[in-house]
Amino acid sequence: MARRALESFGTSVFTVYSQLARRHDAINLGQGFPDFDGPTWIQDAARDAMRRGHNQYAPSPGATRLREAVAATTGYDAEREVTITSGATEAIAAALCGLLEPGDEVLTFEPFYDSYPACAAMNGATLKAVPLRAPAFTFDRDELERAFTERTRLFLLNTPHNPTGRVFREKELTDLLACCARHDCIVVSDEVYEHLLFDGHRHVSPASLDRDRVVRISSAAKTFSLTGWKVGWACAPEPLSAAIRNAHQFLVFCAPAPLQDAIACALEQAEERGYYDAFRSEYAERRAVLLDGLAAAGLAPIAPEGTYFAMADVRGWDWGDGDAFAQRLIEEVGVAAIPPGSFYEHEEHAAGLIRFAFCKQTPTIEAAVRRLTR
Ligand code: PMP
Ligand code: GLN
Repeated sequence: MARRALESFGTSVFTVYSQLARRHDAINLGQGFPDFDGPTWIQDAARDAMRRGHNQYAPSPGATRLREAVAATTGYDAEREVTITSGATEAIAAALCGLLEPGDEVLTFEPFYDSYPACAAMNGATLKAVPLRAPAFTFDRDELERAFTERTRLFLLNTPHNPTGRVFREKELTDLLACCARHDCIVVSDEVYEHLLFDGHRHVSPASLDRDRVVRISSAAKTFSLTGWKVGWACAPEPLSAAIRNAHQFLVFCAPAPLQDAIACALEQAEERGYYDAFRSEYAERRAVLLDGLAAAGLAPIAPEGTYFAMADVRGWDWGDGDAFAQRLIEEVGVAAIPPGSFYEHEEHAAGLIRFAFCKQTPTIEAAVRRLTR
């Protein structure tokens, strides 16, 4: 019954492992959602927005207040260059839908976020992946160059990178942009973890290096611990934004109006409230608890430079790999993590790796560590 291009993707690994975690009463360090709420001042802003009558459709490109708040933090033009979407997921979908022709090729780094190949397939395009190899998760410049063909239309980049935690350096981005320029490719840049950085790493958007070539995507989900709100945005020069808006108006028309108003308030006030600094230091603590715990348990962690995920090498346990390992971990230890096979085109590159999320309260992570080290 299902469309053939999508059938092979099955059910998302996040759905599968969250269900398994619930069934086995496991501590869920799998799907990346916080086990705490976003700030009450942002929730209050949403309640207030509803009471002030922000309850009907917003303008399709987004509420003016939120577009202006995004423009103020990114330097784009609110009127023509910012589009508010239903999360980064829809921003990516709208960018691919608005920019791809059937038969086009999309390049990305492997491992990749699982919606990328599905979105490419929905638009009749194919995704090809250039590997980032553990433990450094860097790419080979020549391998990247060789991956481009005359059908390559866009490069789907993610920095900071889920699931490896890599934060791409300016030099790497310059190399990537040079390849894209030679092959006349657009870069769609997924930056949902732009505020989640550790050890002094700095987020560089490729848009700051080659503005005309880049669609810069982000979202409120991770930054404000509000993954259920699904408010995101895509910033790009006018011709690219027009293509995205064409798709967005027929995908969802607009994102939820009162939540747009509340996220505008969040972006307007976050800096002066010291929100981003506190956010990063809380996550640094959570990361330390998880990394120490994984090391103590003999599951060699690879310290992430950004994001709230850590990959670990599970081969020390001799418990098998991939799904087999993740299932045993849930059933016998009571901790859920994500086997990263569905983030890979070449599943053998995922060998021995599993992804833990640390977007959880410290006591939750400590409880998981106690189970892992038992
Ligand atoms: N991109 C990446 C790399 C992600 O990890 C996620 C998961 N949150 C998304 C996009 C989706 O973001 P949103 O929840 O805003 O749709
Ligand atoms: N981005 C989240 C993760 O990587 C999951 C989002 C989702 O469930 N689609 O865990």
